Amino acid sequence: MVLRPLLVRASQSEALARQITATTFTRRMAMRFVAGEELDDGIRAARRLAHEGKRVSLDYVGEHADTQAAARDAAKVYLEAIDRIGAEGLPAGLSVKPTQLGLSVSRDLCEQLIDEIAAAAAAIDAHITLDMEDSRVTEDTVRLVESLQKRGQRHVGCAVQSYLHRARADVRRLSAVGASLRLCKGAYSEPPYVAYTSRREVDASWADCAKYLIQHGTYPRLATHDHRLVARAKADLPRLGRDRDDFEFQMLYGVRADMQDALVRDGYRLCVYVPFGSNWFAYFMRRIAERPANAVFFVRALGNR
Ligand SMILES: Cc1cc2nc3c(=O)[nH]c(=O)nc-3n(C[C@H](O)[C@H](O)[C@H](O)COP(=O)(O)OP(=O)(O)OC[C@H]3O[C@@H](n4cnc5c(N)ncnc54)[C@H](O)[C@@H]3O)c2cc1C
Repeated sequence: MVLRPLLVRASQSEALARQITATTFTRRMAMRFVAGEELDDGIRAARRLAHEGKRVSLDYVGEHADTQAAARDAAKVYLEAIDRIGAEGLPAGLSVKPTQLGLSVSRDLCEQLIDEIAAAAAAIDAHITLDMEDSRVTEDTVRLVESLQKRGQRHVGCAVQSYLHRARADVRRLSAVGASLRLCKGAYSEPPYVAYTSRREVDASWADCAKYLIQHGTYPRLATHDHRLVARAKADLPRLGRDRDDFEFQMLYGVRADMQDALVRDGYRLCVYVPFGSNWFAYFMRRIAERPANAVFFVRALGNR
């Protein structure tokens, strides 16, 4: 789809962010995918989802902290989220973007902040997944997870994007250190020398990686709303000897609630990725970009204003 790279690129525009986040109709549209602007909103959503038998991974939306102070501020919100999760005994963990914790400013600071959050998470047995951002930070993110795992920080894993040529190698490399991985297709716009461009190749890579994780991985987190890939994983799981309490499906807040409910009804573990926070613009634009119907609706609605 031609619109996708344009929309992903637009997600990095600060001017557009200011305009879109101040507009009532786009805010309303965004709140389909985002629980709200405050931690309280994320916790409220987690409570409701827990009541429906779902797990949650809370994401404080934001990326690319450009100062150490901004990275520390984001870490504080995550630590507060851990406190709230622990106090309420919610079945929830965190999704964290390394650049939000200063990866591009100081790798050492980023690792130190993740370490602090991971220690707090470990104390309440909550899991942290480092979201995988664009391919400029893939290797750094993989190294962070390797380093944390080797130092015994078992509560931290990361996402692997099947659209990357390196995905099959990464699931093996990270499984070898025992990291629990989230397998997704990938939401950024990448050049063809880095990522597959056809849906067929991206899906084949996802299916291969899923098979490897089901057979050899640590608690696989299979993140997709693609009903064909979910059906295939469901068939592979018992055949490859993976118990239902030793993996989970993951889906996004506001996407395919029907599939989410059906999985829970069928006795599968399901974790919902729940974003909250006021910097929702880039996250929202990626959700718009990944589905042609969303993109067309969004562009038309903007044009009509
Ligand atoms: C829990 C979770 C965590 C993720 N973490 C990351 C990450 O760390 N890094 C990263 O790059 N990407 C991440 N993603 C996004 C992912 O890479 C895909 O962009 C996204 O999930 C769409 O791919 P799909 O597997 O659902 O398949 P698709 O083939 O894109 O979609 C299958 C079907 O799902 C529905 N659907 C999918 N997306 C939408 C949407 N936005 N709006 C409405 N319906 C939709 C549609 O019915 C569509 O036909 C994550 C996704 C999930 C579920």
